[in-house]
Amino acid sequence: MKCGEPRRRTLNTVTESRIVLYYKFAPIKDPEAVKLWQQTLCRELGLKGRIIISEHGINGTVGGELSAVKSYAKQTRSYSPFRGTEFKWSEGTADQFPRLSVKVRPELVAFGVPEQVKVNADGIIGGGEHLKPQQVHELVEAKQREGVEVTFFDGRNAMEAQIGRFKNAVVPDTESTRDFITELDSGKYDHLKDQPVVTYCTGGIRCEVLSALMKDRGFEEVYQIDGGIVRYGETYQDAGYWEGELYVFDGRMNTRFSEDAKTLGECVNCSAATSRFFNCADRGCSNLQLYCADCSHIPATTRCEVCTARVAAEPGHPNQGNLGKQRRRLTSA
Ligand SMILES: [Zn+2]
Ligand SMILES: [Zn+2]
Repeated sequence: MKCGEPRRRTLNTVTESRIVLYYKFAPIKDPEAVKLWQQTLCRELGLKGRIIISEHGINGTVGGELSAVKSYAKQTRSYSPFRGTEFKWSEGTADQFPRLSVKVRPELVAFGVPEQVKVNADGIIGGGEHLKPQQVHELVEAKQREGVEVTFFDGRNAMEAQIGRFKNAVVPDTESTRDFITELDSGKYDHLKDQPVVTYCTGGIRCEVLSALMKDRGFEEVYQIDGGIVRYGETYQDAGYWEGELYVFDGRMNTRFSEDAKTLGECVNCSAATSRFFNCADRGCSNLQLYCADCSHIPATTRCEVCTARVAAEPGHPNQGNLGKQRRRLTSA
């Protein structure tokens, strides 16, 4: 290099980035102290993302430089309640997050019943038995030989199941995770109380709580899929009991496990097959509806059913959608 010539960055110096998703249920005596520690740790490492801490543990998604994320995982695991936390790695950068958000909340997943969730160092107390993807198949086959049917129970918001779900799954009528309590206490699912039930959700965290709440309410044989639909899909793609596409909490909105994925969703306008969600035209509303490619120009000008009804009732306040719901959606993977 000649004297005075600017130093050029070569391709080798381009840093690699990653995102990690993780959760750990463990008793936390002082969530505020853990929050401050996590905030400082992430700032020092230049990470962005969302972290929730409660008396029941921690749930987070953070992104940044590979070496920084590795260091974050190592240091987080070094805190004894978080020992053994499993980090799921994926491609992505800190830029996918608007900022670093570290919050203390009553629950890691907002079922609205923090006092009903009990944890010890091993995790949630009284949750459903964890099944690896292969064990799901073993269970279904073993029960079949006894003439008993295994029921898949969707632990997500009903909207997510519109584009993908387990075969013959029961999909509760839920707009948010808070609705599960009303659903479970309604008696609608009491016929499943003496049946084998397998709960599933995107990455497994919602089922950790849901399966325990179900057992508390008299469901006798409850299982949950370890790592959720994501882990199951990695193993069986579209050749098992899963059908359709997976709703995901990032800009993609939907993802598929293989080219064989079925399209289960229907355009709200013309009923054509589609897996693409669009936001309601109301600025404050986070409701998503399915539209096909031909009708995809419509949602930019059309409100969802809820907003249409609200505007009809209160014509003076056109943009008052539920911002709270949007925040919940963003944090309940
Ligand atoms: Zn259409
Ligand atoms: Zn709306």
